[in-house]
Amino acid sequence: MRTITLLVIHCSAVRPDQNSSAAQIDTWHRQRGFHLGIGYHYVVRRNGQIEPGRPEFMIGAHCLNHNAHSIGICYEGGLDIRGQPADTRTPEQKAALRALLKDLHRRYPQALIVGHHDLNPQKACPCIENVAREYADLQP
Ligand SMILES: [Zn+2]
Repeated sequence: MRTITLLVIHCSAVRPDQNSSAAQIDTWHRQRGFHLGIGYHYVVRRNGQIEPGRPEFMIGAHCLNHNAHSIGICYEGGLDIRGQPADTRTPEQKAALRALLKDLHRRYPQALIVGHHDLNPQKACPCIENVAREYADLQP
């Protein structure tokens, strides 16, 4: 069993008029050469639906140098209509993301909740102002 120390939040970097289901991301990641397909463990759709990606027991492919000990969670969106980074989460998405994090926190109480940007400042992802503060109540 893997030791999970990080829950890493991402966005799929799509505009409001673009969709990104787990199946679509799986296709994109295979095209990028990820032979195991989707690199995230979960995708949270705009309507609040949570779609499974890679099983939790498998190492993901979502954050350089941090995959072995983390779970990758991706929300659909992250760009505004002009393609600029923006927190585009819908109320349904925020609620589903929080519920998912709550469940993961219960099962991995030692895991810190961070955004991709916190581990790689070169990335705007997940376009959430302050992940640590937003989920302060679910931190170790
Ligand atoms: Zn990311």
